[in-house]
Amino acid sequence: MNTNLTGPAPEKAPESAPATSPENRYDVAVLGAGMAGGMLAAVLARHGVKVLLLDAGTHPRFAVGESTIPYTSTMTRVIAERYDVPELLPLASFAGVREHVAPMSGRKQNFGFVYHREGHPQDPEQINQLVVPEWQRTETHLFRQDVDAYLFHLAVRHGAEARTATRITEISVDAATGAVLRSDRGEEFHASYVVDGSGFRSPLADAFGLREQPTRARHHSRSLFTHMVGVTPYDDAPSARGHKQPSPWHAGTLHHVFDGGWLWVIPFDNHDGALSPLCSVGLTLDERVFPKGEADAQQEFDAFLARFPQIAEQFQDARAVRPWVSTGRLQYSANRTVGDRFCLTAHAAGFIDALYSRGLTNTMEIVNVLAWRLIEASRDGDWSTERFAHVDRLQQGLFDVHDDVVYSSFVGFRDYELWNAVLRVWEATSIMPTMTLERAYRSFLQSRDDRVFRELEASDTPGLPAPVGADVSALLTFTRETCQAVEAGELASGEAAARILARVEAADFLPRPFALGDRDNRCFEATPELMQRAMEWGRTEAPAHIGALFG
Ligand SMILES: Cc1cc2nc3c(=O)[nH]c(=O)nc-3n(C[C@H](O)[C@H](O)[C@H](O)COP(=O)(O)OP(=O)(O)OC[C@H]3O[C@@H](n4cnc5c(N)ncnc54)[C@H](O)[C@@H]3O)c2cc1C
Repeated sequence: MNTNLTGPAPEKAPESAPATSPENRYDVAVLGAGMAGGMLAAVLARHGVKVLLLDAGTHPRFAVGESTIPYTSTMTRVIAERYDVPELLPLASFAGVREHVAPMSGRKQNFGFVYHREGHPQDPEQINQLVVPEWQRTETHLFRQDVDAYLFHLAVRHGAEARTATRITEISVDAATGAVLRSDRGEEFHASYVVDGSGFRSPLADAFGLREQPTRARHHSRSLFTHMVGVTPYDDAPSARGHKQPSPWHAGTLHHVFDGGWLWVIPFDNHDGALSPLCSVGLTLDERVFPKGEADAQQEFDAFLARFPQIAEQFQDARAVRPWVSTGRLQYSANRTVGDRFCLTAHAAGFIDALYSRGLTNTMEIVNVLAWRLIEASRDGDWSTERFAHVDRLQQGLFDVHDDVVYSSFVGFRDYELWNAVLRVWEATSIMPTMTLERAYRSFLQSRDDRVFRELEASDTPGLPAPVGADVSALLTFTRETCQAVEAGELASGEAAARILARVEAADFLPRPFALGDRDNRCFEATPELMQRAMEWGRTEAPAHIGALFG
């Protein structure tokens, strides 16, 4: 989320061509030049679509959304190959980002989770880790201001017309003719279609009353975050000495979790030759349990550390080097994300929580399904809402899936046993869809047949791809309902944990060698040897629709 753009004071626009002149009319106006807008504009312009890319601010500018996950990187590769924009490929690996896009970025070798109970010493057994298999892929802590600037300039290079320091204050659409956008400087832009990638303050959502009030999200949280220097790697903190996780905490994204919230530590300084001393730090709290008070964010952070002295160990010499951002409730949603001549991208459509780093994944999912529709519409003139209906179904599904996972996790934070069980469900929702997308990607590289990706859209469980979607969705629904029973006081958390683990254990679509249902298997690492056994399982034991993923 871009949070601190102010842009220059509005001034009168230079004399421009009349509003209806051909040079002032675009196929697609993209509002917001962040990850969504920049990437989409680059893809569209690459395919000859006449694109206008507008942003209220100028690059570089601060943004969060820094931690990538395997699904994000695979989706980046998909977009790069499917739409023939090879300049996007470096974004899919740490080495690529560091060498070609944003050298101040950090590496991400693991997702680490350390569980804390207020007033109790941290139990070294209560840790979890999902290791990124570096023999297969690498993930990144993106230094967003450079990544976003790269995408912006890529769009311009491919022919998008860009207007920065141009805040759009008014939008109107006509189903027959298209959209008119007006800026705070009195300019007017005409386009056949408008894509709103402006994030949570989406002018389109405002103009058309698209926000659900209240949001349907079950999950509740707010956040305070900044960039710091002087953060001690948690591996060097006294309370981490008893930990036996496979990958160092500081080599990845560290989550300190506790009843009512979690704290992220995303280092950029964690590799040989790192240029950046920075570390992204953010505290996310259930705002019903921890309402926002009068204290400023630094005071609130300090008060939090005083309650969790073992988390504080890594912040003894830390200080913020940019102003804190302190949000209200993070969750928002839209009753529809597509309409006559417009579409919202993921972060304009809705948001749940930074937990599990789904934001960029959802952003790219939408770029992927939107781009080919816009390219075709710019050629055949069919901008009908029906053509874009899938985009709305997908966005709503992505929102609900993430809500279920994060809601269940926050209920799990009450008790390590329950959290340890819910985490396995997150692993299932993460690993299986990634394998599905990887499989489609490999298949596309062989055939170059776009139907590979169009078939992926034919899922009965929007937000979870076929063929694993139905299985994962059933497991997730069971988990969420079990957690709802805990929250309602109808079920003890220990019993809930046992039921969820039993369900994971019995799930025939999860590779048996992964042992995701084993309570004591708290750290997961897809070593070549484990993947070999999973392949064997896929060939011999897996249900047919799952076995195909291992072929
Ligand atoms: C606290 C927090 C932590 C997060 N952490 C992660 C994470 O670790 N991993 C992850 O994958 N995702 C994360 N996300 C989600 C991630 O930030 C978003 O998915 C991503 O930044 C969305 O990119 P975007 O391009 O859609 O929006 P943005 O990056 O917000 O860009 C929107 C652009 O629109 C412009 N704009 C806004 N209004 C107007 C207007 N009226 N006129 C013209 N321009 C306008 C802005 O200037 C801005 O440049 C996090 C989100 C939050 C809130």
